[in-house]
Amino acid sequence: MAPAELTGRSFKQIRTGLDQREFSVSELLGAYLHNIDQRESVVHVFLHIDRAGAEAAAKHLDQRLTLGEARPPLLGAVVAVKDNIAVRGLPMTAASRILEGYLPPYDATVVSRLRAAGALIIGKTNLDEFAMGSSTEHSSFGPTTNPHDPRRVPGGSSGGSAAAVAAGFCNLALGSDTGGSIRQPAAFCGVVGMRPTYGAVSRYGLIALASSMDVIGPLARSVADARTLLSVIGGYDRADSTSVPHFSWHRTASSVDLTKLRIGIPTEYGEGITDAEVKKIFNKSRALLERAGITVVEVGLPTTRYAVPAYYVITPAEASSNLARYDGIRFGPPGDHDFGHGRAYARLRGQRFGPEPKRRILLGTFTLSAGYAERYYHTAQRVRTLLRQDFMAAFAKADVLLTPATPTTAFLLGSIQDPVSMYRQDAFMVAVSLAGLPAVTVPGPAAGLPVGLQFIGQHKHDNHLLDVVQRCRVIFGGGE
Ligand code: GLN
Repeated sequence: MAPAELTGRSFKQIRTGLDQREFSVSELLGAYLHNIDQRESVVHVFLHIDRAGAEAAAKHLDQRLTLGEARPPLLGAVVAVKDNIAVRGLPMTAASRILEGYLPPYDATVVSRLRAAGALIIGKTNLDEFAMGSSTEHSSFGPTTNPHDPRRVPGGSSGGSAAAVAAGFCNLALGSDTGGSIRQPAAFCGVVGMRPTYGAVSRYGLIALASSMDVIGPLARSVADARTLLSVIGGYDRADSTSVPHFSWHRTASSVDLTKLRIGIPTEYGEGITDAEVKKIFNKSRALLERAGITVVEVGLPTTRYAVPAYYVITPAEASSNLARYDGIRFGPPGDHDFGHGRAYARLRGQRFGPEPKRRILLGTFTLSAGYAERYYHTAQRVRTLLRQDFMAAFAKADVLLTPATPTTAFLLGSIQDPVSMYRQDAFMVAVSLAGLPAVTVPGPAAGLPVGLQFIGQHKHDNHLLDVVQRCRVIFGGGE
């Protein structure tokens, strides 16, 4: 079978093929590796490819298939994992020089759940350093490019994972989303990306950026595949103190009555679209939903205009504290410590952190310092409360909300130099994060570069959200 015939399929289709013995897991893996050999030098998805480990795992899974053993839900899933999630024995750097050479001695909870469900891990994907960024250009090991156009960014910070799915290097991928890092690259690369409810997926083994917002979530070719991946990685974990107990994942897609569904469109987001193509596709999507009999209502999220400033106060504050553990001594290559501890920290951190982590450490330390914390950090926390109240009011009028995913389509590499303009890329992403809500981005009905649409669900209503998005994606003509 030609590689493209396999690598263009969704995981669900692959699973059917495996069950019917159309091909083996090793053949499937071979097809992905073929694509990687052809295009990785241009796309630069991986910081580490575990060819030998994946091949051995594929052989083992093929044996299980021949023996007719029980078939766990992710058998045959070839998964790429963002390089801020620990996979035992594979190097993990979070795209930072300060972690070079670090080998995690344990698996993140999501990774052990993947393995138990029959998935194999093909490699670790590129990201903005410590997941700080919206383009993957802040990686210390060079940027990833957009599989739809190598002159453009794939989005970020999970740009490697989104590009891996879009380029046919794997069938599923894991990303992390603090302020949009799964949803925005999924939108730029034309794949499905989900940020689950905060606490729904264990963060044990994830390198922290802003702990009050970080979540791990799926990137996939279809909504159905994202749901399958989530059903495996989600659920309570005692190793994560913010993990939500009693979260039920295993509901199958229920039939959503489209005639009773109310989709809310936040007025303020319409005003933030700067790109004619994004506007066109968003309006077209809205019209398609209305034509399918769905009620579309306007809702207000007045505090949303303060979401980006609040996010960029809270995230650096939490990051400055989380990044304190990278002192250049406990992790990373040995340095010259001859000059006393305090100075060693300063020198090694100065040499090994890239510009964006440094900026955030400085900003965060400043906004938390005595005299300024009330003015910045506490004000931002109050904005967070107001945002939650806005969403609650909106959900009294609508079951899910629909917004564009990004103000523009994927921008050209190097075209955004100023940090504040980069932060504004997250305009439609960060309010959801501050409120801890689930959201899914799917490709809209666009012919050229992908244009993503974002569906936002109510707290802990992840399954209902996926049901709705699955139906809506069919209405947009994009399959399930
Ligand atoms: N672009 C956002 C930031 O730089 C999002 C990052 C993320 O979600 N990890 O903080």
